[in-house]
Amino acid sequence: MSTQTVNNAQAHESMFDAVLARLDAAAKLMNLSSDVLNVLRNPQREVKVSLPITMDNGKIEVFEGYRTVHSTHLGPSKGGIRYAMDVNSDEVRALAAWMSFKCAVANLPYGGAKGGIKCDPRAMSVGELERLSRAYAQSMKDVFGVNRDIPAPDMGTSGREMAWILDEFNKVTGEDSPGVITGKPIAVGGSLGRDAATGRGVMVNTLAALKKMNLKPTEVTAVVQGFGNVGSHAARLLAEKGIKIVGIGDHTASFYNSNGIDIKAALDFVAKNNRVLKGFTGATEINANELLISKCDVLVPGALQNVITIDNASKIQAKLIVEGANGPTTPEADPILNEKGIICVPDILANSGGVTVSYFEWVQNKAGYYWTEDEVNTKHDLKMEIAFEAIWNNTTTYKTSMRIAAYITALQKIEQGVKLKGAF
Ligand code: GLU
Repeated sequence: MSTQTVNNAQAHESMFDAVLARLDAAAKLMNLSSDVLNVLRNPQREVKVSLPITMDNGKIEVFEGYRTVHSTHLGPSKGGIRYAMDVNSDEVRALAAWMSFKCAVANLPYGGAKGGIKCDPRAMSVGELERLSRAYAQSMKDVFGVNRDIPAPDMGTSGREMAWILDEFNKVTGEDSPGVITGKPIAVGGSLGRDAATGRGVMVNTLAALKKMNLKPTEVTAVVQGFGNVGSHAARLLAEKGIKIVGIGDHTASFYNSNGIDIKAALDFVAKNNRVLKGFTGATEINANELLISKCDVLVPGALQNVITIDNASKIQAKLIVEGANGPTTPEADPILNEKGIICVPDILANSGGVTVSYFEWVQNKAGYYWTEDEVNTKHDLKMEIAFEAIWNNTTTYKTSMRIAAYITALQKIEQGVKLKGAF
């Protein structure tokens, strides 16, 4: 069984409804004007395209591609592109709205967007993926733009796809405009520190929360679900801060070791093992469903959405959850976690490190001047700490969870943009 198909019963619910449930709750608590709420309940622009691709066997397959711009009230829209089989208009819409809130929380001059292609990248050849990425870039030529809508990697994509999309976009426009997309490889205008940024943001948020909880990193254990771009860097950076990582897992296998897992050994293992954990011998293999509910102080769901649900929330043993993934907790699970006194650093704050360094990449591209990795990391950590503090303070002001406080913090900023820019 796949490690990350935990509690799929709820994965069929509308993700955008999950966004609206939190948006409405926050709006009520902060007295957001109904006009502004109404604007934000409706994405600005939704594009769906059909992408006919010649597969390696000579046959043409038609893929569905999406891009949704949720808002541009604080600046051009920003957000990743995911390649996955469950991509659909509802999911992209939800992820686009989360990007609006995430960028506002992190104090970035951006609105939010998200894109995706319904495909199984693991089952496709490099050539097929390249043709698909280029076709997608062509079809989105009027959506993307360095000051309009700026994509980036997400699930199932990486710097490789970003370079193809950049190249295709540049060909169409006849200009070299590296800032039209972020998360690029360094050689074509990427930023140092971008690869590890989402994991780094998870680490900074974890340390900030532990401090508020009066816990020392060296005294706590953590379980990290997901060992891709987010989870592997998060596990490595948390371990570097002295946190004992007792559980890890990806879509192929999950592992637990109460004495701690050697994360460097796990990273070396996946590097030589087709990027998956299956076959790792540094810990006991456990069932996928057990990972999230196993004994630990800090839980990092760093892979898929809808994994913490009403079915398992009451069994979670962690005191702190730091959401590396987008939407890992269903709205129905939130009150269960709150009642148990579990602090949950929500996705729109916890994983905003990625888009924060994307912003730095865009700034560097525009300036044509590149920073050292230390400069990137220092600026990133500071931005994350400020964002964490603002939300923590709003939990007290509004007597609410960190999730709703994060929405309130975002809405306070976006409200100004909506009001100042006005309507027709
Ligand atoms: N896909 C990432 C996210 O969900 C990064 C987005 C970006 O860098 O624009 O935050």
